[in-house]
Amino acid sequence: MQNFTYFNPTKLIFGKGQLEQLKEEVPKYGKKVLLVYGGGSIKRNGLYDQTKSLLAEIGAEVFELGGVEPNPRVTTARAGIDICKKEGIAFILAVGGGSTIDCTKAIAVGAKTDDDIWDIVTKKATAKDALPFGTVLTLAATGSEMNAGSVITNWETNEKHGWGSPFSYPKFSILDPVNTFSVPRDQTIYGIVDMMSHALEHYFHHEENTLLQDRMVEAILRTVIETGPKLLEDLESYEHRATILYNGTMALNGMVNMGYHGDWATHNLEHAVSAVHDIPHGGGLAILFPHWMEHTIDANVGRFKKLALNVFDVNPEGKTDREVGLEGIKKLSEFWTSIGAPSRLADYDITEDSVELMAEKTVTASSEFGNFKKLTKEDSIAIYRASL
Ligand code: NAP
Ligand code: FE
Repeated sequence: MQNFTYFNPTKLIFGKGQLEQLKEEVPKYGKKVLLVYGGGSIKRNGLYDQTKSLLAEIGAEVFELGGVEPNPRVTTARAGIDICKKEGIAFILAVGGGSTIDCTKAIAVGAKTDDDIWDIVTKKATAKDALPFGTVLTLAATGSEMNAGSVITNWETNEKHGWGSPFSYPKFSILDPVNTFSVPRDQTIYGIVDMMSHALEHYFHHEENTLLQDRMVEAILRTVIETGPKLLEDLESYEHRATILYNGTMALNGMVNMGYHGDWATHNLEHAVSAVHDIPHGGGLAILFPHWMEHTIDANVGRFKKLALNVFDVNPEGKTDREVGLEGIKKLSEFWTSIGAPSRLADYDITEDSVELMAEKTVTASSEFGNFKKLTKEDSIAIYRASL
């Protein structure tokens, strides 16, 4: 285990009826509020009206930025930054999924600097401060509600990059499973794949003595595998929505990955696909992860064997370690297929024609990527070809 410092200042407020806590939390930061949301799901399910009326009760002056895209655009973040600067916004409230929250992080940091937010996303400039912001999460997937990460797309350059800073943690996040009841089946599936992918990204490392961390990651995977199909049978089950929601947060709030660094190459591979084809993040991960695994298994067969045994209950009798590992990968693919996740880039009409461009996008930030095994553009090409 490596040395580490753990810091996570986000106040997590979980459960039925917790939206009311906005009345306690928001006034701590000011009454000039920018409300940020997506394409309209919160207007259809009533959350927009509930939020507005609670903000009215505390006498907040509310400005709005709606229309944040899935795979949020830097142009939308810039529009939010302009509102914050022009109106002297004191606090930002994100109501939505990971895209709305990630965009809000960019707005919060961008509002406190003269640097262009894209320069901060691409690490040409550094975040120095941020407006305080809170979130009301509506989709279990990214963990953005309790981490400092944000993923922003530049559609002009076809680039999608993750960034983060010590300033981009939400002050609080309200997670009411009821607010996720209306998430459609496909987005529920993508969310399940995304949180499992975060757990898998953690799992692939070479660090010794991470027994507790590995077991926590395995527990997340096993819990999602057990609960996901039950939730998909009953999308309005409070119990299953709550389990999945909590898993999504725990998979990427830093709690299970202290003392080692996970891989994250598959997220980079997926971001490049989304940057060129604007596909859902979880859909891309479901296609790419098994192929990344097959491509890298020989970097440390033991990790793959451990996953196969401890998460997928593979019977090792009469098999080599590599065969056990490969069977685990197969079981992961079968699970994702069984819940209705896509398995080929062709499912999004992505063909060989895009492979070179997508591979180029995987190495815009640096010529090598991934911690478990260093990958190059050639590796990206091989993984994309296997995924077609
Ligand atoms: P999302 O892009 O925020 O939302 C996907 C879709 O679900 C949108 O159309 C949204 O509609 C809809 N939706 C959300 N909540 C809903 C609800 N309660 N009822 C009905 N529809 C609802 O999805 P996401 O998976 O949470 O976020 C994906 C983004 O996060 C990607 O850009 C990905 O790269 C990034 N990401 C970030 C992190 C991180 O740590 N920061 C980690 C992984 C991925 P509306 O727009 O109409 O609301
Ligand atoms: Fe993700």
